This record gives sequence, structure tokens and C-alpha cells, in this order.
Amino acid sequence: MRCARDEKFSSGVLSRYGNIELSPSSGVLNYGQGLFEGLKAYRKVDNGGFLLFRPEENARRMQMGAERMCMPSPSVKQFIHAIKETIFANKRWVPPQGKGSLYIRPLLIGSGPVLGLAPAPDYMFLVYAAPVGTYFKKGLAPINLVIDDNTHRATPGGTGGVKTITNYAPVLKAQTQAKAKGFTDVIYLDSIKKKYLEEASSCNLFIVKNDVISTPVTMGTILPGITRKSIIEIARDYGYQVEEQLVSVEDLMDADEVFCTGTAVVVAPVGSITYQGQRFEYKTGAATVTRKLYDILTAIQMGRAEDKKRWMLEID
Ligand code: PMP
Repeated sequence: MRCARDEKFSSGVLSRYGNIELSPSSGVLNYGQGLFEGLKAYRKVDNGGFLLFRPEENARRMQMGAERMCMPSPSVKQFIHAIKETIFANKRWVPPQGKGSLYIRPLLIGSGPVLGLAPAPDYMFLVYAAPVGTYFKKGLAPINLVIDDNTHRATPGGTGGVKTITNYAPVLKAQTQAKAKGFTDVIYLDSIKKKYLEEASSCNLFIVKNDVISTPVTMGTILPGITRKSIIEIARDYGYQVEEQLVSVEDLMDADEVFCTGTAVVVAPVGSITYQGQRFEYKTGAATVTRKLYDILTAIQMGRAEDKKRWMLEID
């Protein structure tokens, strides 16, 4: 049985960035009824217009999440329209090609008041944006991760597979502590056997062994990343064997390469992983599968390669 109401969102208004008013008893503040998305708009090579990577995928992921959270959701058309308007209004803030992008954050929240545990009566869809630099200031630098076998970001039957705001609360402590120790991010394991990789705080994981690429299978506890899906497709197109399967800590220790994928990091090579005090190192650099996939994907995203799959939405 569906939980989300088929409610239509009225067309929105463009306003200056600022505070919004919310009831203290709103669904989002009390019961975490909130979803978000993240996209990047790149300037085209000639610096004329802008490019968005597969925005309809973000719209559909928000719709899937909305059903899980008993929320109505904007249509794909409304979602993309709101993003386009936000980009137009922030044109002058989009960095030149190669210097970064405009990060776009769509939010869907339960804005109506609700005291007893129930879905909120009203919802708000909003989009804001901020210019961001390139993730790696000094080129494609390897990142260093740590496995936390005490913290779980998701459990079967929970909301790990959708992009709710509440998925990020359980990892704040683990991530803050890992960063204080000099790690870039944390890898979380499955909450039942505590031996299979799930994902990092905000990116999906891949391992490479003898040119075979594996990534943890999505079974409701990891976010089905749009970059993950795209990298799987690209790698298969280029003749790699790609397996979506359970990936254990032992598989990770034995891997040649490890990389992360996500809108923010794009494709990030992992230089080392620390597990229970032991540090494992991986191949990085120009001659890796990771580098090849990074080059192919970024060339498409920035309009330097032909967009054969029609993944890019051009906004002029
Ligand atoms: N996992 C988590 C927990 C994330 O927050 C993100 C970022 N959205 C990803 C994976 C990567 O997803 P995508 O490639 O769609 O950005």
C-alpha cells in the first residue's frame, strides 16, 4: 500500500537566500521527515551555458524516498524546473570550467504541524545553491579512509537506501572523530554480520582486483548513487567485468585499487584504508582503472567528450 499522498505542489517562487519560517511542531523538526538531493552545475567549456548531470535521476530518487517517508513529491518536471530557475538566478556565481561548480541542494520537508507521530499535513520543496571549488585542490589526490565497525548508518528495513536527512545524523560522530585523526571519511559495514562493506558517509565504494570491478550490492541499506550507476555503465561499456555483490573486509584487504563515487567526489582514488589499527595501501595514479574511469566520466560531465548517452542536460 502506498503511503505518500498524491498531492500536487503549486508552482514556486524565487526568493533571496534567507531564513524560512517553520512551525516548532513541523514534521521535519519532530520526526525527521526530510529528504535532500545534491547536484552540480558545471559551466560549459566555452563558458556559455551550464551542464547538469542526469537531474531526472535525482528527481526519481527523491520520489522513491518520498514514498518511503510518506511524503508527496514534486514531479520530475517540477524538480528540474526549480533547479533551472535556481541556476539562472545564480548564474554569476557559477565558477568557470575547471574551477568548480554550482552545488545545488533540493530539499523536501514536512513543514506542517504534527504533534502525535504521523506524517505532516503540509510539505515544502525548496532548492538552494552555493558555488563550490573542485573537491581536490591539488588534482586527483588519494583519500585515506577508516573502517568503523561500531557505527552503522543503516539497518535492513530502515531508510539507508533513500536520501533522508536522518541518514546523516548517525554518522556525524564517527566522521568527526575520523577527520580529527586525519582520515578523509569512514567506511561503514553491514549491521548484521559486520563484515560486508556498505558505503562511506557520502559516497559509494568500489574495489578493483585483477581488472574486475566490484561494488556492494544495494539491498536497501546503501544509497543507490547516480555516480555509482553511471560508473558501472561506463566500465561495462569499456569492457570491464563489473559485479554488484557482497564485498567483504577480506575482499577489500586483497584489492588492487579502491575508489569512491559521488556527486561531490566524482571518482576518488583511495590511497589507504585502516581497519582495527592495520593500514592497507592501494594502487593510485595515472595507470589505474580508477583514473581511467575518472577521466571518462569528467569529460562527459564537463562537456569535453561527446554525450553519447544523453546524460547531460544543457541549460543556456
Ligand atoms: N552514499 C551516500 C550516503 C551519499 O550521501 C551520496 C551522495 N549523494 C552517495 C552515496 C553518492 O550518490 P550520488 O552519486 O548520487 O551523489
